[in-house]
Amino acid sequence: MPESVPGTPDWALEHYGNAHKQGFLRRKIVEIEFLGRSMFVHRGARRHFLRLERLFEARAPDYAAAVAAGELDDWSYENRNVRGSGRKSNHAFGIAIDINALANPLGTAGDMPEEVVRQWEAEGGEWGGDWDRPDPMHFETHLTPAQIRHRYRTDGTPRDWYLDQLIGG
Ligand SMILES: [Zn+2]
Repeated sequence: MPESVPGTPDWALEHYGNAHKQGFLRRKIVEIEFLGRSMFVHRGARRHFLRLERLFEARAPDYAAAVAAGELDDWSYENRNVRGSGRKSNHAFGIAIDINALANPLGTAGDMPEEVVRQWEAEGGEWGGDWDRPDPMHFETHLTPAQIRHRYRTDGTPRDWYLDQLIGG
C-alpha cells in the first residue's frame, strides 16, 4: 500500500482516526489555550499547536498580543467539509486552526508574520496562505501524532535532540 500524502483525508484518517465515528469528539478532541483563546484540537496534535503558539510569542510578540486582545475570530475543531467541496476539512479531525480570520480572509495575502509561517513550515506544519486559493488564517499539522511526540515535550517545546537539529539547520 502506498504511503498516503500528509494533509490528505486518507492520511488524516490513518493517523488521527475516523472523524465521522461516534465518540470522536469526546475521545480525541481536547481544549488548549492558544494566544489567550480556547482552541479545540486533536490530542495527538496538541503539542504541535502549542509549538505554533510559542513561535508567535517568540518571533512576532506584537502580533501575538494583538491576536490575544483582538476580535474572537480564531477557530479550530469543526466537523465540516472544505468550503465549496465535498472533502472533509482537516478542521473536522482537529488538526487545523484558523487565526485572526478578519485580517486574513480567504483569497487574500493576509497579514501573517513571515518569520512564524516559515518556521512552522520548517517544522512540518502547513500554512494555507501558500495554496492556489490562499487561506492565510489557516494552519494545519502535517506530522503524525508519533512524530509530534518524538519531537516535542508536552508543553510544546522542542526536545533537546530536535532543538539541536533546528539550530544546526
Ligand atoms: Zn481553516
